[in-house]
Amino acid sequence: MKRKKKIEYHSYTEGSIRYMSCMTCGRYETVGETATGVRCSRCVNMIMMKNYPLETKPSYVPTGRPPGWHFMKEFVDKDGNVFHRGKEVPKLKGTLSPTMVKSPKKRKIKRRTKEQMLVARHKEKKAVLKKAVKKQKDFINHNIDKG
Ligand SMILES: [Zn+2]
Repeated sequence: MKRKKKIEYHSYTEGSIRYMSCMTCGRYETVGETATGVRCSRCVNMIMMKNYPLETKPSYVPTGRPPGWHFMKEFVDKDGNVFHRGKEVPKLKGTLSPTMVKSPKKRKIKRRTKEQMLVARHKEKKAVLKKAVKKQKDFINHNIDKG
């Protein structure tokens, strides 16, 4: 039975250049004399992509402009650039105050708890019932008045 040695990456020299098998895919890569393990550039790239996927994506640059600003009749950005329906009007630059942009983040979303929802539903039911009772009473009264 052969005993497995510690991981040893296969290497060979050709002239004065040393090649070593890539730790990940096994392709030979030129290495320095002291290298004990190597990854080829392809695998390095792949690892980089895995570790830093955000860097390869186009990053979102906030413009400070609201969504749909270019549909607005008039929009002034924070630098004083004036746009009429998305078209810049350079002669108006700096003559108007920036359009106030309401941040959608400020809008509070109230989340009702299950209990609150039940209470609300109960109240609704009660109101409906009250109306029905009143209708009935009115009907009766009406009948009595008639009689
Ligand atoms: Zn590789």
